[in-house]
Formats: sequence, structure tokens, C-alpha cells
Amino acid sequence: MKKGRIFSGMQPSGRFHLGNYLGALDNWVKLQNEYECYFSIVDLHALTSSYEDPSKLPTNIMEMAMDWLSGGIDPEKNVIFVQSHVKEHAELHLLLSMMTPLGWLERVPTYKDKLQQLGQQGKEINTYGFLGYPVLMAGDILLYKANLVPVGEDQIPHLELTREIARRFNNFYGDIFVEPQASLTEAKVLPGIDGRKMSKSYGNEIPFAAHPDEMRARIRLMITDPQRIKKTDPGDPEVCTVYTFHKMYSQAELPEIAAQCRNASIGCVDCKKRLAEKMVTSMADIHARRQELEKKPAMVREILADGAERARKVAGQTMQEIHQAMYLR
Ligand code: SF4
Repeated sequence: MKKGRIFSGMQPSGRFHLGNYLGALDNWVKLQNEYECYFSIVDLHALTSSYEDPSKLPTNIMEMAMDWLSGGIDPEKNVIFVQSHVKEHAELHLLLSMMTPLGWLERVPTYKDKLQQLGQQGKEINTYGFLGYPVLMAGDILLYKANLVPVGEDQIPHLELTREIARRFNNFYGDIFVEPQASLTEAKVLPGIDGRKMSKSYGNEIPFAAHPDEMRARIRLMITDPQRIKKTDPGDPEVCTVYTFHKMYSQAELPEIAAQCRNASIGCVDCKKRLAEKMVTSMADIHARRQELEKKPAMVREILADGAERARKVAGQTMQEIHQAMYLR
């Protein structure tokens, strides 16, 4: 007996990294046992900020599907699909956009920040689609009448907007939508190899599907305690990115590593090697599954096609109710 229905999505915007895994996918893997989950690769969302050249989308979608599957998302337990394969998302977005006041969208806290941030990167982003991003997101959730959405703290305003849109719609056309609640995901912000938040835009990421050699190479580049210049200098593990990762991957050996760092009996090169081996071992199963999936693209496509079919059944049912309520039949 499942506790409720969840919708969640991720943009296929390039190589998935460890920060994405520990920040979201890891949580999905836990949720899939308790909830009926709809997990979508939201390619239409990717277009709202990267519309100029969509040629990489097919590759990015396949990569993301393989990352999810190798990371432990089970296609038997969940509905895994590509957003644009279920046309109802685009239709509901259109219908919701008719009744969503512009002011609601303009006051979303992340809107102006992102507009500025992407504008600085030279992107022409002052578009109708970008402003309407939260309406598309509301449509994604409401289409499945999901009662729970796993979100980070920064996405709470988006979810509040989804509830406001649902309320406004229900007021006009009758009680069709469920108001979704937030399932707050504990923010696990993983640092990148330069110590800042792991992000593709900083180029500091460790790819989730990295080959062990690539993983070792990335770890070799990690910044350490900047005060520790010579091997004989005592270090401070608490200011070191390598140690932050040891906290996750070498828990049993932490006191020993911290002591060896502080009394300079281990050098940073060896400390990084130790971490690399822990991380490679911990990712070994995922890596093996990922390599198997890479040999079976047809099977991955089949999983996505099956997911889209299952999603369409629920989405189609909701759209029928909406069509009737809005006199579109
Ligand atoms: S020994 Fe390890 S924990 Fe200490 S500064 Fe070097 S890499 Fe960081």
C-alpha cells in the first residue's frame, strides 16, 4: 500500500554529477518504496533556458535515463518518462497560462536572479517561456494529481505558486486539482573539486558516470588546506575539500585521517589516493550497471516508451476532466 503519489523531474542539461546524485536521486531511490512515483526527464524545461541549440537533447536524455537506472531507480516500481513524450504537459501548460496572473510569475524569487545570472552569461532569456517556467512546473505536478513533491528549500516558492494556481483553477472550474505538499529534501550541498558548490557551470564537478580513472584524476585536482604547503606542515582537515568527502566515504577512518593530517604524518597526495579508492569502490556497482546499460540503448528507450504510455493514461484522464470543466469538448 503506497502512501501517496509523487511527481518529480530533472532537466537533461548535460552530464549528471555526484552533487545531483546526492542532492536528489539518492532521495528518490528511498521514496520509490513508499510512494507511487512519476519521475520525468523534463526536456521542455531545459528548453526554457537553452532553446537556441536543442541538438544535444536526445543524447542528454539517454544519459540521464541511464544515470537514473544505474543509480537505483527501478522502472518496475516507478513511472519513468520524458516530459515531451506526454503531450498533455504542453496542453496543460497552455491552459494554466490563460489564468495565471503575470504578477505571480514576476514575483517568484528565483525569476529575477536567474534572469540576471543567465543574462550575464550572454543568454537572451527575457522570453515568454522562461517567465512561464513555474506554470509548466505546476502543470507537471497537477497533471498527475501528485500530493507530494520532493523539493529543496529554494523551490518552496515554486510549489506555493503551484498550489495557488490549483486553487484558482478549482475556483473557476470545479475541484479537479489536488494541492500538492512539499516533502522537504534535506539539502546536501556537495562541494566541487575547488571547494565551491558542485556545479557544471563552475566546471568543478565529478561526473556521476565517471570511469574510475577519471574519478581518480578529478580527486587529484581537489583543493586541500591552502595553508598546508609542504608535506611537513600540519594541516586542518576542517577546511579541506578532500576531508569533506572523506566524511561521506571514509566514516570509519575519519579520526585517523584527521589525526594524520594534523600531525603531518600523511601527505595530501596519499590522502587523496585513499579517498579515490573509497569513492571508486563505493561507486563500483553503479558504474558496472551504467556500463551494462550503455550496451543496451534499445532497452533504455523501451523503458522510457513504456513509462510515457503509463504516464499518458493518468495525464489523459486528468485532461478529460479539464476539457469537460472548461467546455473544450
Ligand atoms: S592530508 Fe588530507 S585532509 Fe589534510 S589537508 Fe591534505 S588532503 Fe586535506
